[in-house]
Amino acid sequence: MVAWDEQTDVIVLGSGVAGLSAAIEASQAFAGVIVFEKMKVTGGNTRISGGSLAAPGNYLQKRLGVEDSSELFYEDMLQAGLGLNHPQLLRKVAEGAAEAIDWTRNVLGVNYLDRLDRFGGHAVARCLTTRSQSGVDIIKAQIIKLNQLGVEIRTGCLLTGLLTDHKGAVNGVQIRSGYNFPDENSGIIKNIRARRAVVLATGGFGNDIRFRMLQNPGLNESVRSTNHRGATAEGLVAALKLNAAPVHLSWIQMGPWCCADEAGYGRGAIFASYSVYPTGILIDPGTGGRIVNEWADRRQRCDAIFKTGRVCVGIVDAKGAEKAAESLQYCLKSGKVKGFEKITDLAASYGIPPHHLETTVNHYNQMAQAGSRDDFGKPLDQDTQPLENPPFYAIKLWPKVHYTPGGVGINSKTQVIDLQNHPIPNLFAAGEVCGGIHGASRLGSCALPECIIFGRIAGQKAASLHSQDEA
Ligand SMILES: Cc1cc2nc3c(=O)[nH]c(=O)nc-3n(C[C@H](O)[C@H](O)[C@H](O)COP(=O)(O)OP(=O)(O)OC[C@H]3O[C@@H](n4cnc5c(N)ncnc54)[C@H](O)[C@@H]3O)c2cc1C
Repeated sequence: MVAWDEQTDVIVLGSGVAGLSAAIEASQAFAGVIVFEKMKVTGGNTRISGGSLAAPGNYLQKRLGVEDSSELFYEDMLQAGLGLNHPQLLRKVAEGAAEAIDWTRNVLGVNYLDRLDRFGGHAVARCLTTRSQSGVDIIKAQIIKLNQLGVEIRTGCLLTGLLTDHKGAVNGVQIRSGYNFPDENSGIIKNIRARRAVVLATGGFGNDIRFRMLQNPGLNESVRSTNHRGATAEGLVAALKLNAAPVHLSWIQMGPWCCADEAGYGRGAIFASYSVYPTGILIDPGTGGRIVNEWADRRQRCDAIFKTGRVCVGIVDAKGAEKAAESLQYCLKSGKVKGFEKITDLAASYGIPPHHLETTVNHYNQMAQAGSRDDFGKPLDQDTQPLENPPFYAIKLWPKVHYTPGGVGINSKTQVIDLQNHPIPNLFAAGEVCGGIHGASRLGSCALPECIIFGRIAGQKAASLHSQDEA
């Protein structure tokens, strides 16, 4: 018999967008809810994310007359995921993303910039960005909502184990209260009972070197990550110990837009993802040639960079750089981006054979102007432009661990499934801790909508269970 220190209806583990979405829904369904967060700060990777959300049929697409559909979005994600995506989960994301954005606007009051972006792997412009260009806007709005609902978020509380009754149903959690990351012995152990259910929303493991090396030994401590320090695997491991099905754990995603000269995500990554990749070219400094379709999905772009074995250089002209004007100014000041009047001067500064680079740029410009077939299969439509307006800007790019598409298996009700594909009673999961949605590789801007969609479902389903007191 477990000695319970405390009890509530629904326990939510993790205070990122998935966990807080679940907490809001569960509380609105009149369940008592407590959110436990291991770090001192709420928000996890969501807080530091770029705040960009992809959705077909979103309000700005409608206003701007951009044609899109959930089928097209589904196909784009499936292609990036190499067909490994679990269809019923993917369908939920494709069909629910626009509503997820409406929920953040109408229920939480999140504001978005009046811009629509098209990132690599997306067939059309369908990505909205929060006003501060960060997921912190969503986290702050969710915390305000939870305060109004009277839901407590307890920071410094590490999940150390999921507890079960004699039938194997999850009925509570063991936590370390007063936990001081990363000291595994800090805080005191408490057992908290969940009368209805537990929602696991502990995020990904991009910064868990031990765990990610189990999946891919090459991702050792020398490989940097964009993630927050607490992106580690304890929550996932707790579910695996209950025989949760591990799905796609070794497909660890790297970010091709990461700046080689800065730690973490950084402003260089924002400049590269909003400006360099959509409007510029990626160059192997050894040859002066392009190496990939700059609009390919993340995996293809990273693979192309790794194949060169060299830190590559992204180049964009003044017109393309306008797409990320604020980040450009920041990066010019910090020296992460440099500007040049002539392509040959840029080449000399980055050790690129100047004549080769000039030839590459001229050839690219001819293809872009003619709208002809690109050597790397980049669609040269109205969104591409020749590089002809100086100054020309350059940034050094080298991938970092960015996202872990693998995690626990869930069904479309967000029930965690076991190794025999049966739901583990009273255990739900949402967000980056889950696997199967994105398959081999996630398209940009698809995580936040997915976390909201499944987080909300998890909260609703958890609250809808009967209290074990009534059983
Ligand atoms: C730099 C960066 C930029 C990104 N930009 C975008 C973007 O623009 N658009 C997009 O769609 N996606 C983006 N992503 C991906 C996206 O932000 C994440 O996939 C998403 O925020 C994950 O949300 P989550 O709620 O599942 O996890 P998180 O937001 O990471 O929250 C999980 C929380 O659980 C806590 N936790 C972990 N283990 C435990 C434990 N044992 N006990 C208690 N608490 C625990 C963590 O500390 C964390 O606070 C970005 C990611 C990064 C790193």
